[in-house]
Amino acid sequence: MNHYPIFTHLENRPVLLVGAGTVAERKAAALLRAGAQVRVVAERLNPLFSQWLDEGKIVYLGGQFDEDFLNDVFLAVAATDNRSLNEQVFRAAEAKGKFCNTVDTADLCSFIVPAVIDRSPMKIAVSSGGTAPVLARKWRQMIETLIPLESGKMAEIAGRWRQRVKAEISGTENRRRFWENLFDSRFATLAAQNNTAAAEAELVTQLDSFQAAKGEVVLVGAGPGDPGLLTIHALQAIQAADVVFYDALVSDGIMAMVRQDAEKISVGKRAGNHHVQQETTNRLLVEHALAGRRVVRLKGGDPFVFGRGGEEAQVLKQAGIPYRIVPGVTAALGATAYAGIPLTHRDCAQSALFVTGHSKHDGEQPDWRTLALGNQTLVIYMGTLQASLIAEKLIEYGRSENTPVAVISNGTLPQQQVRTGRLKNLPELAAEAPRPALMVIGEVAALGGELGWFQNDKVE
Ligand code: SAH
Repeated sequence: MNHYPIFTHLENRPVLLVGAGTVAERKAAALLRAGAQVRVVAERLNPLFSQWLDEGKIVYLGGQFDEDFLNDVFLAVAATDNRSLNEQVFRAAEAKGKFCNTVDTADLCSFIVPAVIDRSPMKIAVSSGGTAPVLARKWRQMIETLIPLESGKMAEIAGRWRQRVKAEISGTENRRRFWENLFDSRFATLAAQNNTAAAEAELVTQLDSFQAAKGEVVLVGAGPGDPGLLTIHALQAIQAADVVFYDALVSDGIMAMVRQDAEKISVGKRAGNHHVQQETTNRLLVEHALAGRRVVRLKGGDPFVFGRGGEEAQVLKQAGIPYRIVPGVTAALGATAYAGIPLTHRDCAQSALFVTGHSKHDGEQPDWRTLALGNQTLVIYMGTLQASLIAEKLIEYGRSENTPVAVISNGTLPQQQVRTGRLKNLPELAAEAPRPALMVIGEVAALGGELGWFQNDKVE
């Protein structure tokens, strides 16, 4: 079930609760904490409900459910142990367009109640969409341990100062930066110590000295696809970004980790199909940084390995824009590791060469003599279209036609495929391999069969 998460404001709003047993008691207590006016229908009130009635906290409507009770309530909760009564309440609520939650019956709910981590005014709601409440509670426990008990205090103070900060700092990005810096500073310690006065003094100091930040560009390597291969720096950068320029090689799983509100701009290009010219990308990076934004240029693999990161850094340097480079796991490392192919091996490969099958200047020839040497592993990026030429030249310059090869498609992703064979068959293997694909040539390629461990990814 694909629920739309909302937090409702129940203060002083009437809510109908049908049932007054133990389960209803928990529901009533939560509703009362949220400030709702709880109206109870139940044949009998248990002692706690009677006490609430005496204290004037709830209204008692008697033992008989009447559809008209739903007319002016905000929402309803059916919490009896009588399934047909619960169903009657739910159907009536549906007919009247009222939200209704039926305890422990997912198909009789138009809203469900999540497990909550409460650091008021901060709250985290966890839901399994009604499928596995126990797992949702387990998540809750895990998250509880991560979030300091006092962190609600920071939100409380921030709430009081929000308007003033808004008046003094212009621009949503500048304000976001102000709050981020504040929450990472000594302010957090003081808030945790419940020292409100000192925390507010710290806030004022930082507000007075706040300067609109200069933009910067972070060239971030996203790795070959598996989001688990992002570095901590990469994760932090994509979660702090105002704008992310990404290319086609960046996997959906990684894009899902980018800060939700960041602007995401595709500058994807695949060999032979340049969607956005490199010059345009360069210009956009500079423009956005000059506007004071935190720019991330997110690239598949490593930015400095066949990724034009060098060209982009040169442009930034020339424009005087501060930049950082976050390395990533390049395809030659990631895809081979997931295919169980070691790049070097004492028995048969003393070195590994990373080469591109695609050069900027057409007609430029690689040094085939060096590439064809034995005892080395060749890893070829962007090479599947040139596989026939590559195989032919390597054989011509002396590499055995029986040298093992592997073509790894979508390395590290769930749809990874590995095709293995001999150098003389490389053209066929490459032709049928989905892209992106990496070609590995050398004795180590044969080890994939023995050492492959990732999924059932072999294609004969
Ligand atoms: N900067 C990137 C390489 C960009 S060039 C890096 O460091 O990995 C693009 C080429 O990389 C593709 O043509 C393919 O040969 C290779 N490649 C990138 N991701 C890959 C993946 N997940 N599986 C196999 N090959 C990949």
